[in-house]
Amino acid sequence: MVNIDKFGRPRIWANGKRTTVSKVVWEAINGPILKGHVIHHIDHNPANNDISNLKLMTRLEHDKYHNTILLDIEKLKYEYASGKSMSEIGKLHNCSERTIHRAFKKNNIPTRSPTDRAIIQHKKSGHIMSVGV
Ligand SMILES: [Zn+2]
Repeated sequence: MVNIDKFGRPRIWANGKRTTVSKVVWEAINGPILKGHVIHHIDHNPANNDISNLKLMTRLEHDKYHNTILLDIEKLKYEYASGKSMSEIGKLHNCSERTIHRAFKKNNIPTRSPTDRAIIQHKKSGHIMSVGV
């Protein structure tokens, strides 16, 4: 039975333990994963476990790699301020909405209130807001 973990990775039972599909696929071809290493999804889609999408990295390399994605925080802020949603920003940066959420949290960037979101939706749909009539 396949279920999905909180990182979006499909998980299965293999050799008597719960593991990720990415690990099973990678190990089937390359042998056991060395200690301190992780499998990275090249296209950032944890559901794409084709061997061509999997890359072995040290945990350190992997952390560095993902942190550099999050480093362009000024750009994220600008995009967010210009009315883009987190999922739209994620698409622009080839990562998930969850990654953007985390980046905002990590950098203490305030997120929009439901009212702000409603106003943006309204503008996008071409309606003209009348405020305080
Ligand atoms: Zn990764």
